[in-house]
Amino acid sequence: MRKRELDKFKKLLLIERQGLVAHLSELEGASETQLSQGGGDSVDLAALEITQAAIQKMGNREKNLLKKIEYTLDKIESGDYGTCERCGEKISPARLEARPVAQFCIDCKTELESNERRYSDKEEEDEEGWGEYEDAS
Ligand SMILES: [Zn+2]
Repeated sequence: MRKRELDKFKKLLLIERQGLVAHLSELEGASETQLSQGGGDSVDLAALEITQAAIQKMGNREKNLLKKIEYTLDKIESGDYGTCERCGEKISPARLEARPVAQFCIDCKTELESNERRYSDKEEEDEEGWGEYEDAS
């Protein structure tokens, strides 16, 4: 991949990381405020627990994405970016545009996903969370 393209993806990832870090600290702030205001009647407590769970879930998802971004930035630095980690083929530019943190080419990803679905019923969270921060420029 050309340096110009690498720089473009790096910039995208850095912007995304910045947004995530800011949002995560917001979430943590919201969570603390709610905890300190909590107490009192049980209806409020139940609502509080639901909100806490939602915040935690969103936070976990974003933390995962953050880890993935760090990992991807490392790959850019080491020159491994844009190569499928499973088969070693180049990942198509269109796929990287849509999802800069992609680790696998579309063929491998499709295969891995169908295996995952077969062997587990865990929630699909891998492909979520990217694309909400479309480049506004
Ligand atoms: Zn592959």
